[in-house]
Amino acid sequence: MVSFSSIQFQPPAAAISPRTSILLSHHHHHSDQLSLSSSPPPPQPRRLHCIRAIDAAQPYDYEAYLFNRFSQSSKLKIAVVGFGNFGQFLAKAFIRQGHTVFAHSRSNYHAVAQSLGAAFFPDPHDLCEQHPDVILLCTSVISTESVLRSLPLQRLRRNTLFVDVLSVKEFPKNIFLQILPHHFDILCTHPMFGPESGKLTWQNLPFVFDKVRIGNEDSRINRVEAFLDIFKKEGCAMVEMSCAEHDKYAAGSQFITHTMGRILEKLQLESTPINTKGYETLLNLVENTASDSFDLYYGLFMYNKNAMEQLERLDLAFEALKKELFGHLHEVLRKQLFGKSEEGGHRRPMLAKLPKHGTPPLLPSQSEAVANNNN
Ligand code: NAP
Repeated sequence: MVSFSSIQFQPPAAAISPRTSILLSHHHHHSDQLSLSSSPPPPQPRRLHCIRAIDAAQPYDYEAYLFNRFSQSSKLKIAVVGFGNFGQFLAKAFIRQGHTVFAHSRSNYHAVAQSLGAAFFPDPHDLCEQHPDVILLCTSVISTESVLRSLPLQRLRRNTLFVDVLSVKEFPKNIFLQILPHHFDILCTHPMFGPESGKLTWQNLPFVFDKVRIGNEDSRINRVEAFLDIFKKEGCAMVEMSCAEHDKYAAGSQFITHTMGRILEKLQLESTPINTKGYETLLNLVENTASDSFDLYYGLFMYNKNAMEQLERLDLAFEALKKELFGHLHEVLRKQLFGKSEEGGHRRPMLAKLPKHGTPPLLPSQSEAVANNNN
């Protein structure tokens, strides 16, 4: 219900457009101006009409007006979906840079969110009704699809930007394209660091991104840039590449790193009084990788089609190295046993290096031929 009364009209800054406030002040009416008395009336405070009802009709362009105001400022409303280890880590930087963070997760992170300065919404409907500019998916790789499907997309603004930070990239890209209606924007990203490696600074740490689908209106282009700016401002090395390219590189680097870290963790390495620099590196590797969840590691393996090949190469490499060691040992033993009598005879072939990633493995006979050529 709308009612007008004679109290000072003070439009909330954002609640009414300048055009509307001019119309209202032109239509006010003062009865004391009609007085016929000879002495001038004492000065009255200026009284204007006011819309008091909270359900009062707003100007037709009110939402657009608010949206424009928001998009003009570079501050974003970011909904972090999946408020675990990595979600919280990113949220801290967003808040530090003055962005508004809404959090949502399977578990209750009310207190944590509050302590960081974020608002926690256990119900995804409430989250989406906040009309965030960005929905940032920080869930485990394996739960991505079910979490995305649990969001009531119809409650979001029509061109909301969806971003993910999953450690694999083709998989979320395909899920986004499959599930999200055309009017949502999609940015796939992978910060190549975590709460351990990015504890002190993000300076020069790579941030991979792929603008999968961004509408061509200025406001949408600016919004993506505002999001990427967060990482630029922290000093990240911004790397634009396709999701497919990322997965190829990441299997050969990140997956191998995590695998080695986990193997070494199983060895329960301990610090010694005579650590070499190399050994310190190994201890650091264990520390950097062991604190990540197994879900994360499993995601790197299961949802990157290049990972299996890397695991096989790792196996082959270890076998090849053992053969090389035992081969040497065998030769020394034979020399001791048979002395010079074998000289000029058959020499044990050196083992070939593994073929490069992506080339078919050599057959044993080919491998020997390569090895002989290498000698
Ligand atoms: P994670 O184990 O990969 O993911 C944990 C998050 O997933 C938590 O928010 C958790 O929610 C949620 N989750 C797990 N299972 C779920 C399910 N069944 N239903 C709903 N939510 C579920 O560990 P993380 O380190 O926090 O990583 C989050 C994402 O960031 C991953 O995709 C990872 O690949 C990526 N990432 C991580 C790093 C890193 O260094 N940690 C770096 C770059 C990218 P609750 O906590 O509410 O249970």
